[in-house]
Amino acid sequence: MNRDIYVVVEQVDGVVQKVGIELIGIATKLAADLEQKVVAVLLGDKVKGLADTLIQHGAEKVIYVEDPMLGVYATEPYTKALNAIIEAKNPEIVLYGATSIGRDLAPRVSARVHTGLTADCTKLEIDPETKLLLMTRPAFGGNIMATIICKEHKPQMATVRPGVMQALPKDSSRTGEVEEFKVDFAPEDMNITIREVVKSTHAKVDITESKVLVSGGRGIGSAEYFDVLKELADELGGLVTSSRANVDAGWIGRERQVGQTGKTVRPDLYMACGISGAIQHLAGMEDSEFIIAINKDTHAPIFGVADLGIVGDVHKIIPLVIEKVKAINESKKDI
Ligand SMILES: Cc1cc2nc3c(=O)[nH]c(=O)nc-3n(C[C@H](O)[C@H](O)[C@H](O)COP(=O)(O)OP(=O)(O)OC[C@H]3O[C@@H](n4cnc5c(N)ncnc54)[C@H](O)[C@@H]3O)c2cc1C
Repeated sequence: MNRDIYVVVEQVDGVVQKVGIELIGIATKLAADLEQKVVAVLLGDKVKGLADTLIQHGAEKVIYVEDPMLGVYATEPYTKALNAIIEAKNPEIVLYGATSIGRDLAPRVSARVHTGLTADCTKLEIDPETKLLLMTRPAFGGNIMATIICKEHKPQMATVRPGVMQALPKDSSRTGEVEEFKVDFAPEDMNITIREVVKSTHAKVDITESKVLVSGGRGIGSAEYFDVLKELADELGGLVTSSRANVDAGWIGRERQVGQTGKTVRPDLYMACGISGAIQHLAGMEDSEFIIAINKDTHAPIFGVADLGIVGDVHKIIPLVIEKVKAINESKKDI
């Protein structure tokens, strides 16, 4: 009997959330080790049209539930729908994004179906011997990486933070099966009243989308120095990010924090300026394509993950880099 790998793909206002595509990416690796299929689960009102996108990114099958009650996320109807799918289909593994919705939904479902849940995983693998899912996440304040198994109950369930897993490239030639799953909702399944959906109006930065990040640590010395880093980031077409030290100091917003309790990023270029390279910071950026570290301490751990290390004072080096990049950008304009 097939006990496939299910990925709960979030959609908001009919837009598939990127983390769902990333989870399909890791699920295909797990599925290959288990010789099982990747099944994407879509819940919402009128979501069938999104199924093709999920197949093109690696799902072999899409199960969808459409109902006006699922139009805006609410815990109870979403839990009911997923619970029904799990009971009917008996999957081996169910993966969720560790988003606001995933963090609300996954624990409810795990209680409902009587199984465990490992939250905020950074690594997922199949144990070659036992075929169990190895779910790895930071534990004890990030000082150790704990690998957790769920061997007594099924499905094995995990949430994974956005940006951690790699999505497969879109392949428009892929085809797959699409199945509608019917859930009998009763009016009392909606146990809350949604009066109004208020969308945040302030411009949101998404540091996980930028190909270049210029990141400042405590070593930059002041909040004002972020203006200098921004000048460099602007020249490079990127964004400014930070270690937690500066976020905690109130020098920059939390949405810019890279690391275990911030965002996981994987840009083409990550410039770590005056960042020591604590394990919690490295957890969020060490998979960047190319890392440049500037630090006055030769022994700073950040040099251990850097492709290019510059030992020196950021306040002297950054202005020289800005000057060079500006000159290059100017010369490109002349061509
Ligand atoms: C549970 C938990 C979760 C955490 N989550 C995160 C997280 O998500 N992200 C995160 O970043 N941290 C996180 N931390 C904090 C982390 O442990 C470190 O304290 C933090 O990353 C340190 O930030 P920093 O490198 O900017 O500062 P420091 O460690 O103080 O390093 C400053 C560096 O700047 C260098 N420096 C100083 N002056 C200059 C100069 N003029 N020129 C060049 N270099 C200079 C120094 O040599 C030093 O290496 C977490 C900690 C815990 C316990």
